[in-house]
Amino acid sequence: MFDYSQVCVVLVNTSHPGNIGATARAMKNMGLSKLTLVQPEDFPSGVAVGRAVSAVDILDNARVVSSLQEAVADCGLVIGASARSRKIPWPMVNPEQCAQKAVGEASINKVALVFGREDAGLNNEELQQCHFHVQIPTDANYSSLNLSAAVMVVCYELRKAVLALESQPLVEEDEFWDQEKANGEQVEHFYVHLEQVMTAIKFHDPKNPRQLMQRMRRLFSRIRIDVMEMNILRGILSNIEFRLENEKKLQAQLRNRETMDK
Ligand code: SAH
Repeated sequence: MFDYSQVCVVLVNTSHPGNIGATARAMKNMGLSKLTLVQPEDFPSGVAVGRAVSAVDILDNARVVSSLQEAVADCGLVIGASARSRKIPWPMVNPEQCAQKAVGEASINKVALVFGREDAGLNNEELQQCHFHVQIPTDANYSSLNLSAAVMVVCYELRKAVLALESQPLVEEDEFWDQEKANGEQVEHFYVHLEQVMTAIKFHDPKNPRQLMQRMRRLFSRIRIDVMEMNILRGILSNIEFRLENEKKLQAQLRNRETMDK
């Protein structure tokens, strides 16, 4: 049986509480129950309750957090819904592919489906925290769906994929992989460490970063690194730091000796 509680819907900075209520209703229709709200503008709200109708339990249990990073910290797969393509192309999926990925992943890791603000969608920093972007193929003349309608389309595809899976099981990589995928928190720590080391070896200049960190994020999102691989990379970074420190000490000693010789 598919565990729907492995999949959470994340709404970022929603302005209209009616959309939060309508999202809860769409989720419950499709079997989902975990809702996370990142800095909602108006919540809790009677308007949300009114629009949720029989899905008020989802609102009551909704988690309210202050950043997307916090919302997805325990998730192994993060898919962000976006109506537009952005400056740096990112791995894109359609709603059916999104559902395939989410359902495959949910047997092992938590999955987040992330939706943006009514007026401005998700910003670049938020989009870069996602492994994939899902775009609902709309008419080119009007691509922006109402927030809760977008949630409905994505959740409906997820449900269809679950029903298909339950009638015909499919073996996903994650079901036989020997390691868990690194979660959002572990990956964020890795990026901090990577940036520190790249700066220390003067490969990276934080004052002139270009798109280095975005490209690193895109690379590792594509790989979907597991916990063991992440530990190896962190070990390599720590080793570089250790050697840099040693080199610094050695040079200081040499300088001391030179001044003493004079
Ligand atoms: N004007 C915003 C759209 C906001 S709609 C923009 O141009 O980005 C609110 C949210 O609904 C979006 O952030 C996105 O998560 C989702 N959404 C709306 N239309 C979508 C579409 N065609 N494909 C995928 N997600 C969509």
